[in-house]
Amino acid sequence: MWAKRAKARQHRIELMNRLVVVSTAEDIFPEYKNSPVGLLLEYHNLNRPLDEYAKAELLIGMCMDNRKHLRIPDNFAFIIRAGGANLRYSEFKVSYAIAVGGVKSIALIGHNNCGMVNLISKKDLFIQGLVESAGWEREWAEEHFMHFAPIFEIGNEIDFVLSEAKRLRLRYPKIQVVPLLYRVEDNLLYLINEN
Ligand SMILES: [Zn+2]
Repeated sequence: MWAKRAKARQHRIELMNRLVVVSTAEDIFPEYKNSPVGLLLEYHNLNRPLDEYAKAELLIGMCMDNRKHLRIPDNFAFIIRAGGANLRYSEFKVSYAIAVGGVKSIALIGHNNCGMVNLISKKDLFIQGLVESAGWEREWAEEHFMHFAPIFEIGNEIDFVLSEAKRLRLRYPKIQVVPLLYRVEDNLLYLINEN
């Protein structure tokens, strides 16, 4: 048990070391410069003046978490918000943004301290909350949790956003998909070193 925990902690440290700070335009990976994702980083992290857009350039997938707010121009992006930035159950909307909306890039934004990590630890709170706040029978609430928690669990924010980016690249091979992390402590976006 101890060894397993130590290993998990070590893995988390390694993942955090893969985050790349974007505090100047030079920090943006060359492949993302002059792309909608590069612009997103410039608007949000670097205070670039907000340009005017007539149509969306980007699809952003991000968590529903209330601690996150992006600084972006009007009309710049479609945004799908789903727990853990998990787009597996939003595929039709992703397809729509690409096919009809015309976006060619997806920014997938995970964040630290995500509620979709270690859902099992929130089981009692979840069930109790549904019973007290929503008027559910305890049995329904338990069943609901046990059915959906494994589907929505993301394991770890950075691993998840990396694997989700890989999945989307296979699914939409002509679309640029970029995994990012939002740190709730400083409200900034970080690039992730994928190698
Ligand atoms: Zn979250």
